[in-house]
Order: sequence, then C-alpha cells, then structure tokens
Amino acid sequence: MNRLPLLSLAFPLAKRYQILHVKEHRSEVREARLLQKEYPWTERHLQCVWSDSTFRPHTLRTTTGESVTIEEPGEWNSEAGPDFVNASLRVGAGSDARHLHGDVEIHIRPSDWRSHGHASDPRYQHVIAHVTYFPGNACGLPDHAVSIALREFLQQNRAFSFDLIDVAAYPWPVRAPQPPCAKYFACMTCEEILSFLESAGEYRLQLKTARLRAESNQRDPHQTLYEELFVALGYKHNRIPFRMLARRVPLQTLRQFAGSDPLRGYALLAGVAGLLPTQINDRWDEETRTFLRRVWGLWWKLSNAWSGHIMNRKEWRLSGVRPLNHPLRRLMAAARLFCSPTPLAERFLSLSDPENPSFLENITGLLSNIPEDPYWSWRNGLGGARTPRPLALIGPDRAAAIAVNIAIPFLASLDRLPHAARDLIRTLPPEADHRILRTTAKLLFGRDHSPLLYSTALARQGLVQIFQDFCLQDRTRCQRCLLAQSLNTHSSDGS
Ligand code: SF4
Repeated sequence: MNRLPLLSLAFPLAKRYQILHVKEHRSEVREARLLQKEYPWTERHLQCVWSDSTFRPHTLRTTTGESVTIEEPGEWNSEAGPDFVNASLRVGAGSDARHLHGDVEIHIRPSDWRSHGHASDPRYQHVIAHVTYFPGNACGLPDHAVSIALREFLQQNRAFSFDLIDVAAYPWPVRAPQPPCAKYFACMTCEEILSFLESAGEYRLQLKTARLRAESNQRDPHQTLYEELFVALGYKHNRIPFRMLARRVPLQTLRQFAGSDPLRGYALLAGVAGLLPTQINDRWDEETRTFLRRVWGLWWKLSNAWSGHIMNRKEWRLSGVRPLNHPLRRLMAAARLFCSPTPLAERFLSLSDPENPSFLENITGLLSNIPEDPYWSWRNGLGGARTPRPLALIGPDRAAAIAVNIAIPFLASLDRLPHAARDLIRTLPPEADHRILRTTAKLLFGRDHSPLLYSTALARQGLVQIFQDFCLQDRTRCQRCLLAQSLNTHSSDGS
C-alpha cells in the first residue's frame, strides 16, 4: 500500500495519547473523534472568540431570533464555575429590549450543558447566556438565560479562522507549585517520556490534518494551502492581516494576474496590503528607488480596480517586527512560492513519493531555497544596506516549522502522506524554543530537567498539545487534571 488513506494510519502513535488522556472515558473518545470531523478545535477557542472583540461577531442573535448586543463579555474566570462572570447583554430591539447581567458559559454543543452537570450545579444559576458553536437549545438552563450559537455568524466572516487564535495568549489558570503529573514523569525513563510526547505530537498533527481537511471541504485545497502559508509568513504579529490578504487576493486571482512573474504577484499583494510607500525616502539608494518604481509601475494600473479592497496600513503591526520578518519582505517569499509555473500544492504532492527517503528534506528545501530575488534576497529591510551574501527569504527554522505544521498535515489531509514520513518526521530539526515549551516542560519535568526529553520536532509538538489539552483547561490547580489521573491509573496498572 503506497498511500495512507486514514489519519489513524498516518499517525499511529496519536491513538496512544488520545486513549491515555481520556482512558476512563472511552465513549468520550468515540464522540471526540466524531466531533473532530465537524469542529476540529477546542472549547477554549470559543472562549477566546467570546472574550476578544477582534474575533467576536458584531451581530449576534439568540437561537429564537432576538438580536443580542454585547455590552460587556464578562471577566474570564480561571477558577471553577462559569467561563465568564459579570457579563452584560442587551437582548431584543427597541422598547422590548431587556438587559441581562450575570455569567456566561461556553460549550461546543448545546447538550454539553447537561452532560457537564451544570443543570443541577448552583454555581451556574446566574448564567444569562449559554454560548455554543453548534445551534440548538440546552435542557435545564436557568429561566432567564438565552442560547446563542456562533457557527453561522463566524462563517459569515470570511476573514475569520480559528487558526488565527493564539489560545495561550488569553488568561490561563494558576498551576500547583508541584503539579501531580511531575511525579509520574519522574518515574519514567527518558525514552518513555520522549515516546509519550511524540504520541501527543502525532495527535497534534492529526488534529491539524482534520482542520485542513475541514477547510479543504469548504474551499479549493490549493487556496487552503495558500492561506495557511500566508498565516505562517505573518509570524506572531501579522497572522490576521496575512490571512485577510490571502482572502482578498485569492490564489487564482494572483496567478491569473502574475502568471509566473513573481514581481507582478508582489506588486498586487503589496498594493492590496496597503504597504507600498507612497513617497520616496531621500536616504534610499538607487537600487531601492528603481525597485519601488518598478513595483509602483505595475501596481498603479491595478489600483483603481482594487480600490475598495486595499487594506489599511494600520491593520499591520510594523513596529517591533524584525526587519527580516517585515511583511513587505515576506510578501516576496509568498510571491515567489505561489507565482511559479507549477502550483505549490502540486510541487508538494510531486515530492510525496513513498519510496523517496529524502521527501521531507525536499519539502523543507523547497521552502528554504526559494529562488533568489534581485532585491529582497540582498536586503534585510527596505532601503537597508545591501548585504554581502544573499539572505534566505524563508530561513531553515521557519521552513522546518512550515513543513511540520502545514505541509505534512496538508499532504495527510489529501491522503498523500508517504508511509515513510512517520519516521522521517522525527528527523526534522526541532522548532525553536518558545514560552509555551519552556513553561510546560518546567511544569511536567521540574526546573532542572534535561532538554533531551523533548529534543525532536514531534516531541515539541506534543508538549504544546499537552499544554493546550490540560494545563490551559484545568481549573482546579491541577487537583483534578485528567492527565495526572490517567498517568496514575496507567502506573497502577503497570501498563
Ligand atoms: S494541569 Fe495537569 S498536565 Fe498541567 S501541570 Fe497540572 S497536573 Fe500537569
């Protein structure tokens, strides 16, 4: 068998993590798998949407059709009880409008209200709104509470994607000074820990694959890949505007206009992004001026036709961004990746040869060896000094991160992940250290742990998944953390 049609086959270790972390709840595992196909994100994603006016839909209605104005979404509750407290809503219009003040509980499905036991829990009696992703009415809500389903409203916003949400950037609960999970990890060998983390890492890739598959079911997979790559090029601060740009200039439009000329593609992208300088800076050298004249020469002919779609420069975060990561530079990487004779998705697919052991190397190479650009490969900032050696438009670390986070799930979502990839993923260079990795490793393994415990790309993915599944979710200061409970059962079983 050359191709792997099922996610569970593509990522066999993932099952181990999924089963362990809900070992006591096998029916939940089945349900979670079904749900993953329809909504491959978490409840926390919905909490972030509710809390953040950037993502929260401006227009909302109750499931009975009354308009809802959110005057105050409430304070994020990191302790036990409803998700938000002290919220204020205006429900209904005109003289019939009424004000509700109280708590808000967020779930994926309406039935979660009852299955989580809130109907009989006095802490939830002040809930004024039950906010869910899927529509429907929950049984046993307090009399005055309204039901609000977000799905329809989120789908109306073409610029929105759950992937834009950095779930770790919102409040998260305090952890116990000595988390109970740490004592179970302390009894494991380095190999056991690495293997466990890698199973969590595979689970994370499986979730990403499900998300890409869900996206590709709604739009062309080529456009899905294009948007995901744009988001990755936006790094931390410009993910939202990059996604917005990819939707304003869809891949098909870009390729129709630019063909395989990256400079034409760049002019269109930078013009619609609203980032092209409108005045020449006296300090710029002749090469910079010539480059900008050529770009403007292409853009001004288009600008009228695109005038209603040009983004506001204020939508971009430009201060504090390293020159190498500046959106104007990254847009050239995008233009060179997507304005080529063969579409990027097809180039990825052509590399997914099951017999080729260098397939992952080839994928990262395709991203990090983008053909040189006469201007941007020699500058780390607009008008900056010409560098003595060419600079990669996408560095090797970023290319490896894109390969793991996008290319592999993309191929798996199309059932085109080579069999050998499972082992090869381990050989990818690990992504650079970041706050979540450091925090989770310290919680799980103590202050003086060896970084070898999470030395592979897959293990690092696993640490992030554990953080998101447990450390972000548990509101009992670790006392009722399901991972610690499962590890306890697992160690008592001797399994
Ligand atoms: S929440 Fe769970 S996994 Fe996270 S530190 Fe506490 S016990 Fe460990």
